[in-house]
Amino acid sequence: MSVARRLLVWYRAHRRDLPWRASSDPYAVWISEAMLQQTQVATVIPYYQRFMVLFPTVEALAAADVGAVLKAWEGLGYYSRARNLHRAAAVVVDGHGGSLPGSLDGLKRLPGIGPYMAGAIGSIAFGLPVPVLDGNVERVLARRHRIGDPIKQSATRKRLWQLAGELVPKTGSGDFNQAMMELGATVCTPKNPSCDVCPVSGDCAAFAFGDAGSYPVKSAKKPVPHHDIAVGLVEKENRILLVRRPEKGLLGGLWEFPGGRVEGGEGVADSVVRQLAERFGLEVETGTGLPPVSHAFTHRKVTLHPFHCNVLGGRVARTYHAEHRWVRRSELAGYPLPRAHQHIVRELEQGDLDG
Ligand code: SF4
Repeated sequence: MSVARRLLVWYRAHRRDLPWRASSDPYAVWISEAMLQQTQVATVIPYYQRFMVLFPTVEALAAADVGAVLKAWEGLGYYSRARNLHRAAAVVVDGHGGSLPGSLDGLKRLPGIGPYMAGAIGSIAFGLPVPVLDGNVERVLARRHRIGDPIKQSATRKRLWQLAGELVPKTGSGDFNQAMMELGATVCTPKNPSCDVCPVSGDCAAFAFGDAGSYPVKSAKKPVPHHDIAVGLVEKENRILLVRRPEKGLLGGLWEFPGGRVEGGEGVADSVVRQLAERFGLEVETGTGLPPVSHAFTHRKVTLHPFHCNVLGGRVARTYHAEHRWVRRSELAGYPLPRAHQHIVRELEQGDLDG
């Protein structure tokens, strides 16, 4: 039996029952694959279910306000995925009559759809005999072929794409690709792979050599920088200041409390006063501080230092941010906020209860 056949037989018997596997509707496949990028299955499930209720069709997504889409994405991270989905939905409705293109090139022309997503949607929703390469597939292939170069190097990635392509069957490509990903997620796991129950162990070089744990080879890790961020909880007439981040860049389009990076040698409370003046045109004095909030992004870590602030003068000037609003505390829950700022809101609510 071929490797593809063995994998398919195994997949049909062992696959997890996940909500997006109930249909091969291209829209549902697209939403699930966008959410699953860089994110664990267990985290995605409730987000996917809620998103499909809020935006059940591509038309509903295209017609929605981007703020509502970001709100539905709140806490899932990598917010450019949500903005790209929203933009791509408009392109699908306006340029493709509401149907996702059924070709690899057509899919790749949509905002936010790269080689992985195009391969996943193309094979699962349209049956195209094309491969996918995510972290799970990379691991399986790196072990199966005992690839000794770091898998993030471009030459290695090119080779992995080629190896993945050689395995994809002409029919059943969607199930095959999902089987490869499922094998990596549940059997060929990063630590302690279950080679004894693996359906392709007979074709696996790492299994034959007994050194699966040595693959995939990773590049040396760069140290992750850490930044302290001063945050102002500026209140005036029972309203608190929120600013919206620019559309492009980290956490683009989300709302947050104003602030900025603490400079070396600067106290955090002094930094709040400076940031509010330099970046937002407000003269403030700091009051009590809230507990610091730490958060890790992929390439950096931050610690937020929130302080209550009183306004002494000035008015909010547009600098780097896209928009600002003075909102009631009770309205904060309606705004899409980064995870660390949601934490600050909970601290504020707790303070209200305690007070
Ligand atoms: Fe992974 Fe082990 Fe299967 Fe090889 S035999 S693909 S190392 S689980």
